Amino acid sequence: MKRGVNRIANDEGASTLPDNSSPKRALAVSAHPDDTEFGCAGTAALWSKEGWEFYYLILTNGNKGTSDPNMTPQMLAPIREQEQRAAAKVVGVKDVFFLGYEDGELVYSRELLGKVVRYIRQLKPYAVFTNDPETIFVRDSFVNHPDHRCAGLVTVDAVYPAARDRWNFPEQIDEGLEPHKVSELYITSFDKANFKVDITDVLELKLEALSQHRSQFGDNPDFLRYMRERWHDEQGRYFESFRRIALTH
Ligand SMILES: [Zn+2]
Repeated sequence: MKRGVNRIANDEGASTLPDNSSPKRALAVSAHPDDTEFGCAGTAALWSKEGWEFYYLILTNGNKGTSDPNMTPQMLAPIREQEQRAAAKVVGVKDVFFLGYEDGELVYSRELLGKVVRYIRQLKPYAVFTNDPETIFVRDSFVNHPDHRCAGLVTVDAVYPAARDRWNFPEQIDEGLEPHKVSELYITSFDKANFKVDITDVLELKLEALSQHRSQFGDNPDFLRYMRERWHDEQGRYFESFRRIALTH
């Protein structure tokens, strides 16, 4: 089996990437700075090495992600943006965009949907990655953050039908943007994954990207060791898992 991008396995054992995809462009839409590092940074690294253009769109500013009483949301937001840019650079992501919504307060709105649609129409990705919009309780041990659920749902709705159909947000069409049909959705699903990407070859890049989020993990030196020990399968290989939806309409 070829190394790199083609070493991707789905549950049927096939080894496929979107082979005939055009353009080789992907957009990951996430609620918070660091979501993409957990969810798809390995895939971003792998595909970028194979000539794909990866972009990140981060919906909130992550400004509540601290337990430090001396850190304020106003101080934290620019730090998290800088950390996210550094993390994206590590894995070869082309650019990162931020919508700047308040962390923990993301709500589904026509305005938010329109903004995500705009990026899809501008960037014209073949594949879109996003958070899990469905799951509330994860393995009866934690709650899927409401910002994740909202980001996932608004992104799915932006992909279909909003970005695709000319009469959704027609003012964008008037500005010169064209409707765009995304071909594949990749959900960072907690319990419905049907597609695995073998990221063993780029694991160090993913961990280095994660470690850029010093405001989140900087006071936990065991963090990377813990991830290394926890994530691999019995053969010592590392995967990112998705629910992959190949859109037929
Ligand atoms: Zn998050």
